[in-house]
Amino acid sequence: AAKVNGRNQFKYWDAQLNDQFHRRILIEKHLKKAIENNEFTLYYQPQINQLTSKIIGLESLIRWENPELGFVMPGEFIPIAEESDLIIDIGNWVLREACHFNKQLQLDGVPPLRIAVNLSTKQFLDPALKDNIKMILEESQLDPQYLELEITESMTIEVEISIRTLRSLKKLGLSIAMDDFGTGYSSLSNLKEFPIDILKIDQSFVNGMTSSLVNSSIVKTIIAMSKSLDLDVIAEGVEDKETLKMLNEYGCSIVQGYYFSRPIAANKVREAYYEIMSKHFSEGLQG
Ligand code: C2E
Ligand code: MG
Ligand code: MG
Ligand code: MG
Repeated sequence: AAKVNGRNQFKYWDAQLNDQFHRRILIEKHLKKAIENNEFTLYYQPQINQLTSKIIGLESLIRWENPELGFVMPGEFIPIAEESDLIIDIGNWVLREACHFNKQLQLDGVPPLRIAVNLSTKQFLDPALKDNIKMILEESQLDPQYLELEITESMTIEVEISIRTLRSLKKLGLSIAMDDFGTGYSSLSNLKEFPIDILKIDQSFVNGMTSSLVNSSIVKTIIAMSKSLDLDVIAEGVEDKETLKMLNEYGCSIVQGYYFSRPIAANKVREAYYEIMSKHFSEGLQG
């Protein structure tokens, strides 16, 4: 019986692998046409200063809807795009879209916000990145101080190259955030050499901080560390009021997460700017 069972197990596993492989091929195929078919959009998740309940920035998050595949989340298709050069085109599309959108918001009279754009590893290592960004900034007329690039620790394994790349990007006048901080393995001594501006505490620590002493200690440590390195700190993945309070006690006032807002469509950002402020003030967040 064990033998039969084993074989069925294998067949099941084999079929599953085959499905995964098939989906991957499909995603790759459709990704190639996604830009020209206008299948991407950007959503924007507010970053809030909890002391004022004001949005201070927006993180742009790509969304993909394909007629055959439906919605595919970036966690699934970005790694696939990373394996080809498609990610470069997608990355440039995101940068262009985000910068133009942010400029338009300002023209519409919304107080200036910083827009954060996630970079992929290939994009970060692409020698043409700086010129592409420069061109996009010129063409969108966005003041570079309102553009922030998000990188991750895993992109900065080549320390010397990373420092040089970051320095050169920063000459454009933009700012740099280290995303998902705490999940990688950048050493403290490297971190202090990187010309970055912001640490984003990974949501896995923030999410569990009210129920896990280990997580809350990690969050506390990262906040303290960012203070001593003179970096701003953002907590991502804030889903409830208890977490918010705890972060406040630890000295982290900039937060991002479902508690304030999910990522929202471009045409909802303007009203969200005013809604979040009035909603949370009336709830007595200050008290
Ligand atoms: P990320 O940059 O760390 O973005 C945060 C992710 O956490 C987003 O998922 C966001 O929707 C989600 N999130 C925000 N607040 C909460 C919360 O309170 N609870 C929970 N459970 N989740 C929260 P999303 O949009 O699915 O993006 C996943 C990842 O895909 C991003 O992680 C980023 O690494 C990548 N990504 C997204 N857009 C782009 C892009 O334009 N370019 C590149 N290269 N990568 C992107
Ligand atoms: Mg990010
Ligand atoms: Mg993150
Ligand atoms: Mg992430």
